[in-house]
This record gives sequence, C-alpha cells and structure tokens, in this order.
Amino acid sequence: MGVEKYTKVDKATCIACGICGEIAPDIFDYDESGFSYSILDENEGVIPIPTEFEDDVDEAAEECPTGSIKTAERPFISRCMAK
Ligand code: SF4
Repeated sequence: MGVEKYTKVDKATCIACGICGEIAPDIFDYDESGFSYSILDENEGVIPIPTEFEDDVDEAAEECPTGSIKTAERPFISRCMAK
C-alpha cells in the first residue's frame, strides 16, 4: 500500500555527472548534452514511478550531488502552462 510518487530532474542545476543513470537506469537517461531527465514522461513528472523503481529513484535523489532529482507525492504541474 504505497503512495504514488513522481520524479523529475531540475535541469537548471544538473551538472551531467552521470550518477543517477547508474543508480536508476530504468528511470533516468541523458539528453544530447548529458543532462539527465526522467524517461517516464519526458521529465514532466506527471506519471507515477513504477513501484519497483521507487527505491532506485530515492537512492538517486540522495546521491545526486546537486539535489537536482525532485520527488513528490503529487504530479508536478508546469507553472509555465498557466499563462
Ligand atoms: S545525479 Fe544529479 S547532477 Fe548527476 S546527472 Fe543525475 S540529476 Fe544530474
């Protein structure tokens, strides 16, 4: 019985170190510049993390040196779309 969790990468602070993709290769991949993003939903943070990968995401978030991996129990909503 878990709460759904969501994740996305703050690409403004990601330093393309490559750690998250090592820890959670089913969730994080890198763009052409090496910056990470969630492959679940093109880094929108709106599709729940599959339960079996939640621990990987938590570990990646802990290990990320810049704190760029965000997690939440609700979908991330793009504020840009409000305009
Ligand atoms: S661990 Fe953090 S800084 Fe490193 S690639 Fe992943 S999101 Fe970027």
